[in-house]
Amino acid sequence: MGLTVLFGGIPQKRKSWGEALARELSDRADVTVALDPVRTDPQTVDAVVYDPDGPVSDFSIFPRLRAVLSMWAGVETIVGDPAIKVPLTRMVEPGLTEGMTDWVVAHVMRLHCGIDRHICAAPDAWDPWHPPLSRFRKVGVLGLGELGSDAARMLARLRFQVLGWSRTAKSLDGVDCRHGEDGLEAVLREAEILVLLLPLTSATENLLNAERLAMLPRGAMLLNPGRGPLIDDDALLAALESGQVAQAVLDVFREEPLPSDHPYRRHPAVTVTPHIASVTRPETAAAALAAQIRRLADGAPLEHVVDRDRGY
Ligand code: NAP
Repeated sequence: MGLTVLFGGIPQKRKSWGEALARELSDRADVTVALDPVRTDPQTVDAVVYDPDGPVSDFSIFPRLRAVLSMWAGVETIVGDPAIKVPLTRMVEPGLTEGMTDWVVAHVMRLHCGIDRHICAAPDAWDPWHPPLSRFRKVGVLGLGELGSDAARMLARLRFQVLGWSRTAKSLDGVDCRHGEDGLEAVLREAEILVLLLPLTSATENLLNAERLAMLPRGAMLLNPGRGPLIDDDALLAALESGQVAQAVLDVFREEPLPSDHPYRRHPAVTVTPHIASVTRPETAAAALAAQIRRLADGAPLEHVVDRDRGY
């Protein structure tokens, strides 16, 4: 029997994804990709491609459901859904990883080199400040999964002293890997620039609270392309006020879009980017999604299945 996959992306993505998936699955007459949830009979759907911004959020209407394939790497909006009793997979694909590493490297370099000093300088300023060499700069990366490990390795290749932290022990070339609560404190005590690439779970919410922000070297700089609730916002604002944190680049927030009156918006030491650090692009991700669909059609085990108990 054939397999029907319902694409749950936002309507503006249907054309590009529909074409890319049709190319990737052109040899599979047994697979149908349905692009419009309104015109698709839920009784016929075997798998849903889930986009948190898309129109599909009620999974109880699909009696034949065999899998939910998330288009996003972060699954906090869906991982606790009791209507999903089938495997839930998260997005792992080279473009998502490369895009994130580009964003992380760009902003680490910007903070490291003090580029804002010159971009934001008065027209008659002459501020001959030299950054330390990257070999003397310590960068911490919290989260060493698909995204964090690639960014950490790239930063190490750029000669930074990279400290990484994950839940379980890891070994990565050029990265001083730590884990556990002691490991977190060791990384925070050293990290002049800290990158958050953790998933949002009950264990990571408000991880960066006042106590942990106080562990950072004074004047540390922070990048958050992970998820907004990893940070206690009041604690970060207080740390920015006191100079404990010198600069923050924030891509993700508790509420998105970030409200226009939020204190981050006009804070001179905060850069807001609108959840664009990386994205799942059909050019690179359709092959990964098609591979999961093939596995499902062939009865093979899916990859990147979310562990519901861990929450990621
Ligand atoms: P991943 O492969 O699942 O990696 C998660 C990493 O975090 C792993 O190293 C994991 O440790 C670690 N971790 C999880 N819980 C932890 C805890 N309680 N204590 C210590 N370490 C913990 O995820 P990913 O693909 O790298 O993605 C990471 C996150 O990036 C996503 O969840 C999403 O929130 C965010 N993201 C943001 C954007 C954007 O545009 N801003 C785009 C994509 C993704 P173990 O290795 O020991 O399991």
